[in-house]
Amino acid sequence: MRHIAIVGSGPAGYYTAEAMLKAFGDDVRIDIFDLLPVPFGLIRSGVAPDHQSIKAVSRRYEKVALAENVRFVGNVAVGRDVTIEELRGLYDALVLATGAPRDRALGIPGEDHHNVFGSAEFVGWYNGHPQFARMDPDLSGKRAAIIGMGNVALDVARILAKTHGEFTGSDIVKHALKALNASNIEHIMIIGRRGPHQIAMTPKELGEIGELERAAPLVHQTDLPEPEADEALEPGQRKSVAHLRSFAALDDAARAAKPVTIEFVFNAMSKELYGSERVEEIELERTRLVDGRSMGTGETFRMPVDLVVSCIGYRTLRIPGVPFDEEAGRFANEEGRIALDPGLGGLYCVGWARRGPTGTIGTNRPDGYALAQMIEADMAAEAPGEKQGRAGFDALAAERGLDVVNFRDWQRIDAAETAAAREGSPREKFVDVEAMIKARD
Ligand code: NAP
Repeated sequence: MRHIAIVGSGPAGYYTAEAMLKAFGDDVRIDIFDLLPVPFGLIRSGVAPDHQSIKAVSRRYEKVALAENVRFVGNVAVGRDVTIEELRGLYDALVLATGAPRDRALGIPGEDHHNVFGSAEFVGWYNGHPQFARMDPDLSGKRAAIIGMGNVALDVARILAKTHGEFTGSDIVKHALKALNASNIEHIMIIGRRGPHQIAMTPKELGEIGELERAAPLVHQTDLPEPEADEALEPGQRKSVAHLRSFAALDDAARAAKPVTIEFVFNAMSKELYGSERVEEIELERTRLVDGRSMGTGETFRMPVDLVVSCIGYRTLRIPGVPFDEEAGRFANEEGRIALDPGLGGLYCVGWARRGPTGTIGTNRPDGYALAQMIEADMAAEAPGEKQGRAGFDALAAERGLDVVNFRDWQRIDAAETAAAREGSPREKFVDVEAMIKARD
């Protein structure tokens, strides 16, 4: 029997579990740990609440969680409630699928002003992640700056721009819906340090910005390269740029019909944030491209802002005892292997914790399957040990008085969230751990 522990119940964790089940069949026991009493990580707390079709993938993960030899072990903080060394002593392989839940810093003066957030915080707020649910951003001002030109920037812009009616069918949490209903934001700038050809926005997501009820996109024609230059782009990027071109072609009357503007500001690097009680101004430096990189030109300008959300990528959270690549912001690893010690088995990472915050949910599938293959090969080189696996963890949890939440418990929490849903919404999420635990009991 092989005992596997996976830390993190998001996409990377589940695809790895699915692959391990296929590889080892009945000869494996898999425990999937999570810090929260609720599973699915990024699917629940990262994917935008109005992108329910993407969230539907959790049904596939449910099937894995309900397999006889798989357990969900929620409400356990690895690194605090139980150490990496302890888990390595109990399981034949330990896989860290903990994602990248922290914001990369902009690293500019004024970043700590009130009403300046990273996207992990802001997305966590509207998605009801217990850590960020009480954040309470001030939406009473008119101008928001979103820094970065990736899909997360689009998520944040779209959520800030939508009407109450456009959230029908979403699982946006009620505190965020209430705040957004009362929002005064009418000018949203999406600020990129490079140009239209270098955006990291995918066509479908960018297209949604052109279809909002009360918001119109604004792209300045003068920012766009000559149309012929698009021919050199790969097809997906060309489609995205085609959206930018169609936004630039909107006439003033079409834009004036909508009270909210989403303006794309290209070739501008954030230099400093100013304000007293809350952020009031952003200073930007014009950039130009040199060998594909943005270089400051020395020309600076300031714009008034009342809210800033930087959407410039994420970092994995360190866990004591796990080597960390500080520059890349993820665990130090080779193709997913962090350490392999005779007798102690392997320590691995997968998904964003392995490769950094890139790719779609689906990218984690081949990642999980490749890691399972590596683990299988590593294990083949060593006879099964005498690890205690889950029985050993249960004894340790009992000794420490850990309040472990299992998958059946989650199903009770899930049922309570579904029952509490407002009309047209799939669920009303619990946004603090105590409420989740109470719903289980
Ligand atoms: P991303 O795609 O890597 O985009 C990050 C953006 O931030 C880029 O425009 C980047 O510009 C910019 N940036 C980085 N450092 C910066 C700095 N110091 N100053 C100014 N700008 C900076 O990251 P993301 O938007 O966080 O998304 C993460 C992953 O999740 C991506 O793979 C994304 O596609 C995926 N995702 C998918 C969906 C969806 O499919 N619906 C939704 C959300 C997220 P440079 O290019 O110049 O570095």
